[in-house]
Amino acid sequence: MSNNDGIILSIVVPAYNEEEVLPEFHKRLTSVLEKVEGACEILYVNDGSSDRTLEVLNDFKDPRVWIIDLSRNFGKEIALSAGLDHARGEAVVVIDADLQDPPELIPKFIEKWQEGYDVVYARRTARDGETFIKKATAKLFYRFIQGVSRVKIPEDTGDYRLLSRRAVEALKQLRETHRFMKGLFAWIGYPQIAVNYRRDPRFAGSTKWNYWHLWNFAIEGITSFTINPLKIASYLGLMTSIGAFTYALFVIYKTLAFGEPVQGYPTLMVVVLFLGGVQLMSLGVIGEYLGRMFNETKHRPLYFVNSFNPSTSHDESD
Ligand code: UDP
Ligand code: MG
Repeated sequence: MSNNDGIILSIVVPAYNEEEVLPEFHKRLTSVLEKVEGACEILYVNDGSSDRTLEVLNDFKDPRVWIIDLSRNFGKEIALSAGLDHARGEAVVVIDADLQDPPELIPKFIEKWQEGYDVVYARRTARDGETFIKKATAKLFYRFIQGVSRVKIPEDTGDYRLLSRRAVEALKQLRETHRFMKGLFAWIGYPQIAVNYRRDPRFAGSTKWNYWHLWNFAIEGITSFTINPLKIASYLGLMTSIGAFTYALFVIYKTLAFGEPVQGYPTLMVVVLFLGGVQLMSLGVIGEYLGRMFNETKHRPLYFVNSFNPSTSHDESD
């Protein structure tokens, strides 16, 4: 790689309202980077925070730190992508700012990268500080997505990982608006390997996730990686048609053989309601895909950057 200013490692950190954790995070990250050979850069992506995140970042006064200030909150996936677009390193590590991803794993990532792996991802062996329901739903989600999609998305992994230069270049070509990152990381292929670790609870601040978000995240994951739900809708239709046809034959036979006293109101209701339900659900599934097509066809840029500066720059300017 020629014009990367000799930078070996880039660290990309999306941050949204993380003023409480960032100083501690930066301390831990820099002490890990001391053990890393070669030049590093740290790219903090301020994802439209409404607290003092940007000021805190500017106070780091570390020449390795670059701050990408997005024009508004775009969500973690896009913040991550903005970081990847600006990273210059031969390898790029993406990590959460909340210290749930221990920076201490980075040297291990680098080891694996030097062994020739393009994607080295962290796999949690324990999830402290998370509720039973969250764990159970996560498990169910992975089981499901594994069943319906051809791309193998590793279980119990977050976005915390190291990417080689060619993996980053591959990811940069995927410009879809609906970004299910875990899926995209897996989709690009290349040699990938896991490093196990224990996921800590959040250091401070609060998670931006809730169940409604998780539900939408799951739908995002499914719709961006498989069109099987659309097929399920057509098979359901086929099966009900066959069922209805057989039942019709039976009714004709019954009427011819035994005559037809007025009867069958409950059956009628059940059939009508069932069919109505199936139709509405299938329409909903089609709608989910149609809506995504609508968003993708607009081809909007993923994000806008308000400013892109090294953290020391505001010193020099005044
Ligand atoms: N984040 C972001 N934009 C958002 C939400 C979150 O950049 O709109 C960042 C956040 O600052 C953190 C990371 O994404 O560094 C993970 O967020 P969080 O801890 O809330 O998610 P969880 O760990 O619960 O999945
Ligand atoms: Mg977190």
